[in-house]
Amino acid sequence: MSSALVWFRRDLRCFDHAPLHHALRDHDRVHCVFIFDTGILDALPSRRDRRVEFIRDSVVELDARLDTLSRAAGGSGAGVIVRHGAAIELVPALARALGVDAVVAGRDYEPHARERDRLVAERLSREGVAFELVKDQVIFECEEILTAGGTPFRVFTPYRNAWLRALSPAVLEPRSITPLADRLAARAVGEAVPSLSELGFEGSGSDHPPPLPGMSGGEAMFEDFRGRMDRYRQERDYPSLNGTSRLSVHLRFGTVSVRELAAQAWTRGSAGSLAWLDELIWRDFYHMILWHHPRVVNTSFRPECDDVRWDDSPVLFAAWCQGRTGYPLVDAAMRQLNTTGFMHNRLRMLTASFLTKDLGIDWRLGERYFADKLLDYDLAANNGGWQWAASTGCDAQPWFRIFNPVTQSERFDPQGRFIRAWVPELAAVPDRFIHAPWRMPPLEQASAGLGIGVDYPAPVVDHALARERTLARFAAARS
Ligand code: FAD
Repeated sequence: MSSALVWFRRDLRCFDHAPLHHALRDHDRVHCVFIFDTGILDALPSRRDRRVEFIRDSVVELDARLDTLSRAAGGSGAGVIVRHGAAIELVPALARALGVDAVVAGRDYEPHARERDRLVAERLSREGVAFELVKDQVIFECEEILTAGGTPFRVFTPYRNAWLRALSPAVLEPRSITPLADRLAARAVGEAVPSLSELGFEGSGSDHPPPLPGMSGGEAMFEDFRGRMDRYRQERDYPSLNGTSRLSVHLRFGTVSVRELAAQAWTRGSAGSLAWLDELIWRDFYHMILWHHPRVVNTSFRPECDDVRWDDSPVLFAAWCQGRTGYPLVDAAMRQLNTTGFMHNRLRMLTASFLTKDLGIDWRLGERYFADKLLDYDLAANNGGWQWAASTGCDAQPWFRIFNPVTQSERFDPQGRFIRAWVPELAAVPDRFIHAPWRMPPLEQASAGLGIGVDYPAPVVDHALARERTLARFAAARS
């Protein structure tokens, strides 16, 4: 009788799950484990991290659903073994204690995770235990989509076209669990999922709790989006509309299946659903870039951009972080991020552009700030997005195309609805001044109950001057 241990990481679900599917197919008994890895948790800057809460609640649901699946298939119940500590030690130790033949997990494309997996594989192999990594979190991985010359793509559109040509129903076929769920093993009685405080964390306790966790949260969110998917192309760029799916946190932690989402978008075939499918392709694209070019974590994708001399401006950086730059849409976006852990894509592009091109600050500082704050933080997408906005990345925004924060605001938040929701001191500012309140004459300021430079900051930089400085900065690096 053979047995395996499935190590859950960023795949907290028990449907259409490739590692679980492989393990159940190849082994008679399958145990499940999730590790609250101190290698990751200890580095988090806050003990009120919404992500830990989201993960913990998702593991609780996973545990209960595995039990239901096992019983429905005639098994005697199942669950997730949960451990708290260093994964590189705990996984081999558990494999030894359970006497399994193999450990199976979803492949991770981040450099530090690859190193962790290499160490785990080494330790397991010393004990004669196989370590199998299978594709689960993307549709196409590693070398699956290459140019005609056999090299990785560097530009999105041809990658997308090749990705779509390679797509087939077989690629998206669900990796089923149900028929063999009686092979799932129960965890020891009395071993519950630890509480947040046992893990050393606190609940976020804010007025903006994280989105509903777990598979049920992901399902509800997708159900809500399904009816809006056809309008995605028209509505996706307006932060005051509910125009996007908000599924990023569920995609991040695998409480939804990317295969299932891609299949839904593809078979629907509307302009909106195909535009949405493109975003899932961007997600694969950035994972592929990170896999082939792990150096992008710390350096520019385009090596010549590492010669760009960024400014050292702690005061301006603090103003950006706090949403006090004097540019209302930038400030609204940063305040939304600080309060909820989410920011709309259009605003991620705008705030990243503002930090690098208006304030002249190194993209790495902004990227780190987003990494600390975003509930959906994903190294591949975040690094790709930042390097795109900073014009240092592959297929990035050309360096001479610089977002104008006022024009962007007029275009994507025309009535200032989003601004007013997040910058309450501007609530009474008339529409014609909402995008650039410093242009209000003193009398208008008085009737809106607002003093620029007193109640709301004057702009910390002049965009036209900042633009010239950025053009010079990039030109100097290229010369
Ligand atoms: P939707 O518009 O509904 O898109 C569906 C899914 O596609 C998203 O959930 C996400 O998984 C994926 N996706 C969408 N856009 C992109 C993109 N440009 N690149 C890669 N995947 C994409 N996304 C993250 O998931 N984590 C991050 O840490 C992250 N950081 C970003 C930083 C910057 C500076 C920028 C410009 C973008 C970043 N993105 C990141 C991409 C994008 O902004 C978010 O995925 C999106 O806003 C999430 O909202 P949604 O789920 O409603 O997206």
